[in-house]
Amino acid sequence: MVIGVPRELVPGEDRVALVPASVAPLIKSGAAVLVEQGAGVRAGCPDDAYAAAGATLVSRDQVFAQADILLQVRTAAAAGTYGAADVERLSSRHTVIGFADPLGAPETARAMAARGATVISMELIPRITRAQSMDALSSMANIAGYKAVLLAAATLPRMFPMMMTAAGTISPARVFVIGAGVAGLQAIATAKRLGAKIEAYDVRAAVKEQIESLGAKFVELPLDTAAAEGQGGYAAAQDESFYRRQRETMARVVAHSDVVITTAAIPGKKSPVLITADMVASMPPGSVIVDLAAERGGNCELTVADETIVAHGVTIHGPTNLPATVPFHASQLYAKNLTTLLAHLRTKQGDLVIDPADEITREVLVTHKGEVIAPRLREQLG
Ligand code: NAD
Repeated sequence: MVIGVPRELVPGEDRVALVPASVAPLIKSGAAVLVEQGAGVRAGCPDDAYAAAGATLVSRDQVFAQADILLQVRTAAAAGTYGAADVERLSSRHTVIGFADPLGAPETARAMAARGATVISMELIPRITRAQSMDALSSMANIAGYKAVLLAAATLPRMFPMMMTAAGTISPARVFVIGAGVAGLQAIATAKRLGAKIEAYDVRAAVKEQIESLGAKFVELPLDTAAAEGQGGYAAAQDESFYRRQRETMARVVAHSDVVITTAAIPGKKSPVLITADMVASMPPGSVIVDLAAERGGNCELTVADETIVAHGVTIHGPTNLPATVPFHASQLYAKNLTTLLAHLRTKQGDLVIDPADEITREVLVTHKGEVIAPRLREQLG
């Protein structure tokens, strides 16, 4: 079996699918590993480190021509126009594993299927204990939560910790985290380490204990959240009247916060607007919003994806790929997620077996033999 790692094509995508440390176990398992020249450089993994681990450095054309399994951060489907040429390179010999954005770009996934390729999406790893070490969304959300706080701290004209100095006492920054899933909980933990005073809210009431155990205050809102917990630990979408009421009741917390970090997402859907322009205007001058939901429209009405804007004296960051700004560790964790999934798909002899009857395989299998398999995607496509 030949495993190929193409260089990532999307500008700013500095991660790489395999790091040198993850190459040796693959070679030991009987696979050959081809890495496109320069694929890991931006993640701090030079070509010679891959070569030392037993990989062969080749051109992009050679990776696609010789590999059976392509490991990518963004498959052609998730690379937009940057991936178009790669779709043409695919054939029925290929199994492509990576982020495939199947719910956001189902038509490209279909085009890849039309080439006969099998496409496996890391976004669709089921949230079951057995698949936890394959869960790339969680690995990346963890990094995004950490980096969001650093971004806010670097932008805020205040300091995070309380300080008692000879020149006076500095009060701690007030941080409000909306959505306490993987990214939100890491944002709370990171802001806590920097000494901020933190409040947090999530529609899933079960999260209250986790928020408090990290040293933050759970904001109690008079909302009926009985139906807010959806399938697989994700939040379920609520109707607009729920979100209106949430905005009204959350407004006072936003108004006294120096930093708001929003992470509220509904899988495959537009993110709910939880902060209006008026709420932004109510924040102290110089405040900062980091909107981690920017990719799906944002939790703040004024967010512009991949841009930093200033409105009403408040800086609003809309980063869509913070994990790529910590490429070394993001690649290390992602590679571990990928290789664990790959080990699940291979027999003891090292052969790849795509068995749609297996629970994990079925969930992640976007296309196989020209058919759409993943139940979540089939549901969406109708
Ligand atoms: P996510 O990225 O889909 O959403 C982020 C958070 O936003 C969630 O906690 C969600 O409840 C919250 N949210 C949605 N709408 C909101 C609103 N209107 N107001 C406030 N908050 C809102 O979620 P995630 O980070 O991927 O994780 C969600 C949960 O799943 C977590 O509890 C996590 O621990 C769990 N999880 C379990 C596994 C596993 O069992 N293997 C793996 C990953 C995550």
